[in-house]
Amino acid sequence: MTRYVYDFTDGNKDLKDLLGGKGANLAEMTLMGLPVPPGFTVTTEACRAYLRTGTMPAGLLTEVQHHLRLMQNRMGKTFGDAADPLLLSVRSGAKFSMPGMMETILDIGLNDASVVGLGRQSADQRFAWDSYRRLIQMFGKTVFDVPGEAFEEELTAARSIAGVATDPELGTTQLQDLVHAYKKVFHQHTGRDFPQAPHEQLFLAIAAVFRSWNAERAILYRRQERIPQDLGTAVNVMAMVFGNRGENSGTGVAFTRDPATGRRGVYGDYLRNAQGEDVVAGIRNAVPLAELAAIDPASHRQLLSIMQRLEQRYRDLCDIEFTIENGRLWMLQTRVGKRTPAAAFVIAAQLVDEGRITLHEALQRVTGEQLAQLMFPSFDTTAAPPPLTTGVPASPGASVGAIVFDSAAAVAATEPVILVRRETNPDDLPGMIAAQGILTSRGGKTSHAAVVARGMGKTCVCGTEELRIDGDGLTVAGRTLHAGDIISIDGTTGNVYPGSVAVRPSAVVRYFEGELAAHGDPLLSAVERLMAHADHQARLDVHANADTAVDATRARRFGATGVGLCRTEHMFLGDRRRLVERLILAEDDAARSEALQALLPLQRADFEELFAAMDGLPVTVRLIDPPLHEFLPPLEELTARVAHAEALGVDPGHDGTLLTAVRRMHEQNPMLGLRGVRLGLVIPGLFAMQVRAIAQAAAARVAAGGDPQPEIMVPLVGAVQELETVRAEAESVLASVPGAPPIRLGTMIEVPRAALTAGQIAGVAEFFSFGTNDLTQMTWGFSRDDVEGAFFGRYLELGIFSVSPFESIDRDGVGELVSTAVQRGRAIRPDLTIGVCGEHGGDPASVRFFHDAGLDYVSCSPFRVPIARLEAGRAASAAAGSDSR
Ligand code: ADP
Ligand code: MG
Ligand code: MG
Repeated sequence: MTRYVYDFTDGNKDLKDLLGGKGANLAEMTLMGLPVPPGFTVTTEACRAYLRTGTMPAGLLTEVQHHLRLMQNRMGKTFGDAADPLLLSVRSGAKFSMPGMMETILDIGLNDASVVGLGRQSADQRFAWDSYRRLIQMFGKTVFDVPGEAFEEELTAARSIAGVATDPELGTTQLQDLVHAYKKVFHQHTGRDFPQAPHEQLFLAIAAVFRSWNAERAILYRRQERIPQDLGTAVNVMAMVFGNRGENSGTGVAFTRDPATGRRGVYGDYLRNAQGEDVVAGIRNAVPLAELAAIDPASHRQLLSIMQRLEQRYRDLCDIEFTIENGRLWMLQTRVGKRTPAAAFVIAAQLVDEGRITLHEALQRVTGEQLAQLMFPSFDTTAAPPPLTTGVPASPGASVGAIVFDSAAAVAATEPVILVRRETNPDDLPGMIAAQGILTSRGGKTSHAAVVARGMGKTCVCGTEELRIDGDGLTVAGRTLHAGDIISIDGTTGNVYPGSVAVRPSAVVRYFEGELAAHGDPLLSAVERLMAHADHQARLDVHANADTAVDATRARRFGATGVGLCRTEHMFLGDRRRLVERLILAEDDAARSEALQALLPLQRADFEELFAAMDGLPVTVRLIDPPLHEFLPPLEELTARVAHAEALGVDPGHDGTLLTAVRRMHEQNPMLGLRGVRLGLVIPGLFAMQVRAIAQAAAARVAAGGDPQPEIMVPLVGAVQELETVRAEAESVLASVPGAPPIRLGTMIEVPRAALTAGQIAGVAEFFSFGTNDLTQMTWGFSRDDVEGAFFGRYLELGIFSVSPFESIDRDGVGELVSTAVQRGRAIRPDLTIGVCGEHGGDPASVRFFHDAGLDYVSCSPFRVPIARLEAGRAASAAAGSDSR
C-alpha cells in the first residue's frame, strides 16, 4: 500500500518532490537533532490522489491518526484533551514556494471546552481566547472561504465597544464576546457551526490545503514561473509552540547572510510576546536579531550556532523562522534563501573562499537571468521616495517620463513619456514603441503589455491593481496624478515612484566597459571570478551581432570572440538610399552597374573599419537580406505626394517614377518574398559588389599589416542550387581581388527546407549559422510583428507555450530542426563550423540548448554577450549544485 504520511523523523532535505520544500527541510532539521516541534508531512502524492478523485485516498486518515498518536506520546499531551490540549498547525508546502495557495492555520484543536483548559493550563485566559478567535477566523477564511471582511468588521466593532485602538488591548471578556460573534459569522456564511471535533478540524484543513493547489492565483503563478501544474502540495502538521506567552517568549525570522547584498553575518528580526505571523505582518515593531543577545542570551547563542550548522549542511544561504516559548528555542522552518542577483554572485564567491563549494558549483549558483538583471540601469533607491504602488515586474529596466494616457499622445510627445493604460491592445503599439516604459493596471506577465514590452526590451510594470485610471487622471494611495506629471517605473521590482528618480548606470556594465575595476568591490570581483571560470569551462564561443566598428569594439570589450552577424543593410541607409533607388530604378545593365560602382567604395570603407576593430577574430558578413522596397519611401506616402502634385496640376516627376516602382514591387507577404539569396540571384551584380567590397577591404587590411578574418554568409537559402550559384559567382570575384586572404563562404539556416536538406547544403557551405528568428517564424508560420501583439498573450494564458518561441528557443519544433541540420551537415562535412545568430543566442535557456546541440558558437547583441558567456560556461560545467532561483 502507498505510504502517504512521513514523520519528521523519517524524511530529509532531498525528498522535496514527495514532502515539499517545507516538509523536507523540517525533516532535515529533525535529522540534525535541532529543536523542531514534533510533526509529520502528508505527501504530495496524497494531494495528487485527492485532486484526481475528489476524496481522501484510502488509508490516509488512518495513517494520520497513527502519526498523531506518536506526536501525542512525544508531547505528553492529547489532541482534543479538554484540560491540556495538544494544538496543531497545518501548513501547506509545495516543492517550490508559491504564493496564492492556502498558507497556514494555527491552533487547530481548540474548541469551546479546550479553550478553557488551555487558559487554565497556561494560566492565561486572554491568550487562550485570543488563540481561539484567531483559529475561527483563519479556519473560516481558508477552509470555508468566509470573506475576511466579515471577521474584520466584528473585530473593529469589538475595539470600538471596548474603546481601544489595538487588538492587544482587548481583554478576556471582550475576546470571549468576539469568539461568539465570529461563530455567528461562521454560521451565517457556511450554514453550519464551527466544527468542535478536533479531528474534523484537522481533516478539513488538510483537504483545504490540497484544494488550494488549484486556486486561481496559484495556477496563474505556476504558469508564469513555469512550474508544472501537476506536482501537488504536501501538508505539514506540527505541534504548536507559543511565542505569545509573555516577555520570555517571542518569534523571529533570520538569514544566515544578508540576502540583499550577500554580506556575511546574520540578519533578522525578533518580536517579543508574539506569534509567527506578527513579525512579517509588521503589526508591532520588531527589533534587530542582535538585540536578542540581551533579551535571551542562551537562546541567542543557540540560534547562532544552529544557523552556522544549517549553512554547513546546506552549503548555502539559509533563511529560518523560529519561536521562543518561555526561554525555549524552537525551529519552525528553514530553506535555501531567496536573494537578489547581486547577493547570488557575492555569496557564491564567498562560499568558494570559505571552502564550502567548488568553483564549478559556484557557477551553477548564478544564472544568466541574474547577470542580465545586474546589467540594467537601476534607480538609486536611496534617493527615491516611497513607491506609490508595486505591480508585476513584467519587463526589466528603470524608466522615467511624463504620464500619457494614450498611444497618440506618446507618439506626439517630444519629451520621454510613460504610457499608462488600464491594459494595452494592438492599437497601442505605436505608443508603446514611442514610450520609455509602459504601466498598466490590469494583467500579469502574459498580458499584451508584458509580452510586447519584453519583445521590445522596454521597461514594463503591469497589474498595479491599486491604480485607478479614469480619463486623464490616475489615482493611487489617495493621490491623483495627471497627464504630464512625471513618474518613474522599475520593471525589475514592479515599483512605481512619483516624480523623477535618479537612474544610475549598472556597475557591472561599467566594469565590462573597463570603467570600473573589480578589485575591492565584492560584487564586481565575484562577477569577474565567475566569468573567468565560465570562459574557462565553456565549449561554446560567444560572438556578437554587430554592424559597425563601434558596436564591434564594445562587443569585444564585453568578451565577444568574433562577429557572428554583420548585417549589411544599414550600409544602404541614410544618404546612400539615393544610390539604392538608382539601383532599383535602373533600366539597363549600364545604369545598374553604375549604381553598384558608386556603392562599392562605401561598403569597402565600412568593412575595413569593422575588420580593423575585430582584427584577428572572425567577422561573418551577411549579404543583403531585406526586400529592396524597404529602401524606398512607403506606398502611402508616395501615393499622397503624387496625388497632391496631380491635384495642383504639376508633374510628380521622380515621385511618380518611385510610385510605379513601389507598386510593381509590392508584396502581399514580404517576409516570404523577394529577399535574401533570392535578391542576389535576381539582381545582377548586387552580391558580386558586396563580395568584392569584402575582399578588397580584407586585402587592404592585410596590406596594412592587419589580420582580417572575414566570412561571407548567404541568407535565406532553401535549396543547395541557390548556394551553388552564389558560390560560383563569389569564387570568381574573390579570385579577381589581389592580396585578399582566404575567405570562407557559408549560409544561414533559417528556412525549414534548408534544415532538412542540410546534408546537401553542407557540400557547398563551409559554415552554417542558424537564423532562429526566421526559422521560428517559418516553422510556426508566425509573422512575428503580427502575432506577438495580436494573440501571444492569449496563447501564453492558454498554456499553448509557456514562453514566447521568439524569446526562448522552441526545443520541440525549431530545436528539432536545428539538431537535424547539425547532424546532417556534419555527416557530410565533419569540420563544418556551426553557430546561431538569432536573438536566441543571448537567451540563457536557449544557450543551454545550443550547447547540447553541439554548436560551435552563439552570436547575440553586444549587451548580451556576458550573459551568453556565463551560460555557455554553466552549460559546460558538469558539476551539480543547488540552483538558488
Ligand atoms: P509561510 O509559508 O507563509 O511562511 P508558515 O507555514 O511558515 O507559512 O506559517 C506561518 C507562520 O506561522 C510562520 O511565522 C510560522 O513560524 C508560524 N507557525 C507555523 N507553525 C507553527 C507552530 N507549530 N507553532 C508556532 N508557530 C507556527
Ligand atoms: Mg514560513
Ligand atoms: Mg533572417
